Amino acid sequence: KQHDLVSFVKDIVADFNVKAKSQQVDLQFICPFSALPFWFDAEKLDKVLFNIISNAFKYTMQGGAIHVTLLKNVEKIEIMIADNGIGMNEVEKAHAFDLFYRGNQNISLGTGLGLALSMEFVNLHQGKIELDSEKGKGTSFKITLPFIQAENQQLSKPEVVPYKSNILSVEPE
Ligand code: ATP
Ligand code: MG
Repeated sequence: KQHDLVSFVKDIVADFNVKAKSQQVDLQFICPFSALPFWFDAEKLDKVLFNIISNAFKYTMQGGAIHVTLLKNVEKIEIMIADNGIGMNEVEKAHAFDLFYRGNQNISLGTGLGLALSMEFVNLHQGKIELDSEKGKGTSFKITLPFIQAENQQLSKPEVVPYKSNILSVEPE
């Protein structure tokens, strides 16, 4: 289904405002354009962004920063989630997307499913997730989603609207 990706991402980021305030984290949404109609599965992309932004909060100290940036070029859109938190070492980086993998020095509870599922969801969109991280410096994730013709994309097939729902019911006087 086609949605405005800018307001979609902005709203997800805004849902973390209270958390940002209480953890004194500088949370920002950065996007150079005001609207972007795009075909995507909103339920899935919501889970992906929620997971990655939740991770950023989990692994970033008080006074840190989390920046979410939305960009596009002719063939793809990019969503970057960058934090200046604890970062990952080489082993953690290599396994971050594995099912049930959790880093060594974990500071809170979790199952290790977040990133594995996020990867699955993004693959369904024929996109990719890239990870860049440095221990003690921070972590950034880049989600890339291609612009795809809706008719070639199973996920983006127009929804079948049941005939009935097109009939306006008339209230009796
Ligand atoms: P869950 O998401 O299932 O509650 P989790 O956060 O531990 O648990 P994932 O989201 O899959 O699991 O992340 C896997 C591991 O990658 C984490 O345990 C952590 O070590 C590391 N990690 C993920 N995001 C970050 C981040 N922003 N900064 C530092 N380490 C991270
Ligand atoms: Mg997680």
